[in-house]
Amino acid sequence: MKDPNCIFCKIIAKEIPSKIAFENEEILAFHDISPQAPVHIVFIPKKHIVSLSDVKNEDSALLGNILVQIRDVAKNLGIAENGYRVVNNTGKNGGQTVFHIHFHLLAERQLHWPPG
Ligand code: 5GP
Ligand code: ZN
Repeated sequence: MKDPNCIFCKIIAKEIPSKIAFENEEILAFHDISPQAPVHIVFIPKKHIVSLSDVKNEDSALLGNILVQIRDVAKNLGIAENGYRVVNNTGKNGGQTVFHIHFHLLAERQLHWPPG
């Protein structure tokens, strides 16, 4: 379950402190240390999965639950009306830097398309 070399597994274990936005038995959401928008929260499964490419079919409910929690956190923060962006970076060309799957929730500024 836990990878001893993984920063996000250490955040889950509270070995690295973070500002937690949401937590339940299978999901943790915390504020990004280097925010790219006024709201920038990272959602992760507590299960160590390297990336979207490493997801198993049996993880589909877990991924669906993460999206549902993003919906709820966005609603609770009052950002749903103006809108927000959910981002998953996968692998080198996707710009992934931490190899524990995560979904960025970005909000409270106008985001542009295409992304860089
Ligand atoms: P990626 O680039 O892999 O899509 O996103 C990784 C994100 O994790 C980055 O936005 C980075 O700022 C964030 N991050 C990396 N280390 C830490 C940390 O120790 N604490 C927090 N809160 N965020 C982190
Ligand atoms: Zn991990």
